[in-house]
Amino acid sequence: MSASGMDRKLPRCPRCGGAKVWRNGSSSSGKQLYCCQHCGRAFVLNPYIDGTVRELVDRMLAEDLRVEIIARVMIGRVSKRWIYKRKKELKGAHPGVC
Ligand SMILES: [Zn+2]
Repeated sequence: MSASGMDRKLPRCPRCGGAKVWRNGSSSSGKQLYCCQHCGRAFVLNPYIDGTVRELVDRMLAEDLRVEIIARVMIGRVSKRWIYKRKKELKGAHPGVC
């Protein structure tokens, strides 16, 4: 049970899988940016969706708000693509409700 090396674990490059990745400041929405030394690709980690944010989005989707509007309300927290995905998931979770 060793706890060493647990912190500051850097991700791998999503393009080439390279492990030599540097922190590269943060994006305009405050997310940590990384830069791959192998191929020069800049990327952010898969955004972690906060439970509260998820619940809010679910509620707005339940109110039949348009994805564009939700995306505008939740800007910087979740992407429009994620909301579309979530909408699909929710639809699939309640089949035959109509
Ligand atoms: Zn790379």
